[in-house]
Amino acid sequence: MNESSEAIELQGQCLCGAVTVKATPVRPHIEACHCDMCRRWGGIAFAGVQCAQNVEFTGEEHIGRYASSDWAERGFCKKCGTNLFYRFVPADNYSLLAGLFDNDATGGLTLGEQIFIDEKPGWYDFAQDTPQKTGAEVVAEAKAVGFSFD
Ligand SMILES: [Zn+2]
Ligand SMILES: [Zn+2]
Repeated sequence: MNESSEAIELQGQCLCGAVTVKATPVRPHIEACHCDMCRRWGGIAFAGVQCAQNVEFTGEEHIGRYASSDWAERGFCKKCGTNLFYRFVPADNYSLLAGLFDNDATGGLTLGEQIFIDEKPGWYDFAQDTPQKTGAEVVAEAKAVGFSFD
């Protein structure tokens, strides 16, 4: 698949297989978030695929949900600890971890954007040349379309 709007169905699972997911991206690329919270959560930048509500889990009873802020929750498998998603609660927007999907199942999705670039530490850099936004820019954009973080 490519950058067209043709629907891609992704299939993935956690490390132990207790949770599986089928999802259709709403944006046909992978987004990286370098913020301090994502890095603490996953060890390095978060790499996610925005799927909005086009997400179907099996093994829902094994999914733990941690409210990491007033507007976001982060999901993980309670059996094996695999991180599953970031959900922006006000928009009910699931961003699934790209690592859940087999390489050949991501339909050639590529890294398309990096956010919170101002919080990225110096000890890694992604080689891809993508658009980058600071945390302030991301927050300003979300506020511009009506979301509030106070
Ligand atoms: Zn698991
Ligand atoms: Zn983040």
